[in-house]
Amino acid sequence: MKKEIIALYPGSFDPLTNGHLDIITRASRLFPTLIVAITKNLNKNHLFSLEDRIDMLKESVSDMHNVKVVSFSGLLANYFDEMKANVLIRGLRAVSDFEYEFQMALMNRNLNANFETVFLMPDQDYTFLSSSMIKEIAMLGGDTKDFVPACVEKKLKQIKKQNQ
Ligand code: ADP
Repeated sequence: MKKEIIALYPGSFDPLTNGHLDIITRASRLFPTLIVAITKNLNKNHLFSLEDRIDMLKESVSDMHNVKVVSFSGLLANYFDEMKANVLIRGLRAVSDFEYEFQMALMNRNLNANFETVFLMPDQDYTFLSSSMIKEIAMLGGDTKDFVPACVEKKLKQIKKQNQ
């Protein structure tokens, strides 16, 4: 039995939503240390720069003292060991998430036998939330204040203004 469990929650967080934040809150209550790792993945077309994604996350978790925000590139299976993590956290919104997440969990375990993935379900109020939908709503002028932290809403409005 491990005493000091380190949990790692990876994602693009482009941008962070209240659904992500719900998973972070739940994981931070379960594990002594939670590392939120933002992917630098260059293939993905992100709306927000890595710096903005880091800033928004740091601001939103500032009251959770066992949560650390970092960024990483490369293979998650290697980074998991580098951070001495014991558990990978992923969020499951609906059955539609399951197939991809299940495949990724098993592939990661094939790449790294230490890998254990723990899936957490958000509050049902957040099961319909996704970063891509938030971006679409914001860029079309819709109100996102019920779906994202205030600092994210502010940044979305700035980007919308710049694009006008
Ligand atoms: P990725 O590109 O790795 O899927 P995301 O930032 O979209 O990155 O998501 C990171 C993790 O958070 C994934 O496990 C995803 O299923 C989960 N997630 C995303 N949105 C929500 C939500 N509304 N509720 C719960 N989990 C979520």
